[in-house]
Amino acid sequence: MQPRAATLQKINSNNEKFYAITPSIPGGLVEADFLEKLAKVAKKYNAILKVTTAQRIMITMLKSEDVNKVWDELGIEPDDNSNNCVQSVVFCPGDTFCKRGKQDSVQLGKLLNNDYFHKQMPRKFKIGVSGCPNACGFTQLKDIGLVGLIQGWSIYVGGQGGFKPRIGQLLIENLTLQQAYKLTHIIIAYYQKHARLERLGVFIERIGFDLFKDAVLNIFYNNTTTEFSTPETVAPSNVINSSTPKLKQITLDSIIADIISSFPETIPVLQSMQMGCLGCPSATGETLAAAAKIHGLNEIKLLNELNKTIQGGASK
Ligand code: SF4
Repeated sequence: MQPRAATLQKINSNNEKFYAITPSIPGGLVEADFLEKLAKVAKKYNAILKVTTAQRIMITMLKSEDVNKVWDELGIEPDDNSNNCVQSVVFCPGDTFCKRGKQDSVQLGKLLNNDYFHKQMPRKFKIGVSGCPNACGFTQLKDIGLVGLIQGWSIYVGGQGGFKPRIGQLLIENLTLQQAYKLTHIIIAYYQKHARLERLGVFIERIGFDLFKDAVLNIFYNNTTTEFSTPETVAPSNVINSSTPKLKQITLDSIIADIISSFPETIPVLQSMQMGCLGCPSATGETLAAAAKIHGLNEIKLLNELNKTIQGGASK
């Protein structure tokens, strides 16, 4: 049986695959009963519990056949999702539990998590909410970061960590909670509508911060849906650009980003094989053989499937 909502974590020398699942724990606020359940299943299935940076607790090193049993025993319906979605909304204790809190980050964080957790996006998308300028949850490294000050909420856009870190840019200050909530919806809707396969920061860089700011604030203040003229969409911009070499054929040594760039029709094939990180920086450095290994796929079958696709063969 296919393990549900699980990430392949490791393949050992005997070719055994081990998976991780990460139940949602909004804000990392967890009840003792649930912790007991986690500990019980981890012991029963010889798993490891890992606290993640997204305020969740990963259950990892699970055997394939145990994954669905663990979901059942936790009493959670697994939420199958792709990588290109809103990851959990990270929010700090704010003025609910923290002496330094200036705003109610728990309320705003829960609202946004309810609305957006696992919603499909053009790329991976992270939201952070902090109750004061200390920004304990690395808020300015999120695609959208909301920071509470005495005067109200500030919104930062386009932050990200990882291979190419970037600090989010300040979009606006002094909003009420309701205004910050509304503007967050507008920013996300605008990004969903206009972005290619690119993080929000890359999208903003491509169209220009001023244009982005004018567009979303115009909608916010005037309730309009003013459009900008989208530059011609050729292909996902952060993996496809003019400097990416064009391939004549696909081999096991071909770099993933070059394959996508040269043969965009291979994108659905790769995604159908759970290779959801096509826009991630690793795609620019990994060969097809390496990616197949990481995702536990047979490299020859994958190569044949891709070659069949670029030759016009139906890919099932
Ligand atoms: S960001 Fe501010 S309110 Fe939130 S946990 Fe840190 S110090 Fe407390």
